[in-house]
Amino acid sequence: MAKAQLVDKFGRVHDYLRISLTERCNLRCFYCMPECGIELRDKNIFMTEEETLAIATIFTELGVNKIRLTGGEPLIKKNAKDLIEGIGQLPVKLAITSNGVLVDRFVDTFKKANLKTINISIDSIDKFKFNEITRRDYYDRIVNNIELLLMEGFRVKLNVVAIRGVNDSEIAAFINLTQYHDLAVRFIEFMPFDGNKWNWDKMLSYKEIMNDVDGHFKPENVERIADEPNDTSKNYRIKGYIGSFGVISPVSNPFCESCNRIRLTADGKIKNCLFGQEEFDILTPFRRGEDIKPLIVDAIQAKHESRGGIKSLDHKFDSESWKNRSMTTIGG
Ligand code: SAM
Ligand code: SF4
Repeated sequence: MAKAQLVDKFGRVHDYLRISLTERCNLRCFYCMPECGIELRDKNIFMTEEETLAIATIFTELGVNKIRLTGGEPLIKKNAKDLIEGIGQLPVKLAITSNGVLVDRFVDTFKKANLKTINISIDSIDKFKFNEITRRDYYDRIVNNIELLLMEGFRVKLNVVAIRGVNDSEIAAFINLTQYHDLAVRFIEFMPFDGNKWNWDKMLSYKEIMNDVDGHFKPENVERIADEPNDTSKNYRIKGYIGSFGVISPVSNPFCESCNRIRLTADGKIKNCLFGQEEFDILTPFRRGEDIKPLIVDAIQAKHESRGGIKSLDHKFDSESWKNRSMTTIGG
């Protein structure tokens, strides 16, 4: 295994790379994708399959040992199958986050790439509401695909962005899915990004989610279970249920002190923090044939201690005057 070389000024070792394969998506989740969609940019500015694989390999030489493929929707990337299989050959634990629409076409690819866990995003189990959130009509297909993944023996994590007035009444219903299915449901606090009309009132915090859990389940039946190393979710199980649930709280309770993540956008920019505004272009120098390793090291050195340098995310924080890419163009 390559020696860890991506250590920032605060001693945090960065060994987990999240690669956005594309900014584009077949859904239009309102909290992720601006209503008007995203600007379609010249395809030459995006990493090709070969470039993505070569750059991913360089990261592994710097000590990265886990790679998550994301987007946009990673499975709509041209040649996604070859790319997933290629990255699966690297000495990394491979993971993927998908909206689930196309996963039935990728079961063999996932197996060949040795992918064990698949994260699927689904924010409502009410079809009508789901279609409203995603502005598309793929609910049945996604539910069938989740069942398919379970039948094929994959471990499935469901990502649910918890938004007040949207799906806050469904927390117990999601947890009840874990009674007979070995699913890990993870509620994610709604985060502010360009064009997603975030505000504090819509954000359902970790505390509020757990209060809702307490209102539906007897406290003595809610068991805290172990988190995986660098896990961003606090995890629980209802006594006797097969699956588990957790809460990811980047807004109310950020996990910056143990952050090991690096993000690579589809246009080849490093974002050293999801909340950070700075970007470090590695694709242009890579195309010029330069050694990009020192640039990657510098990008990690420039990382702020917490939340990309935002001083405070208090109630005065205004997402409209704070510029960041939309989530779909960062890679969630
Ligand atoms: N298309 C794939 C999907 O939906 O799973 C991968 C990309 S998506 C950007 C990755 C994750 O980011 C999803 O679980 C999504 O729910 C989450 N996400 C997007 N916008 C968010 C926001 N504003 N706050 C919290 N999570 C968000
Ligand atoms: Fe697409 Fe995923 Fe964003 Fe929804 S959350 S618009 S599925 S990238």
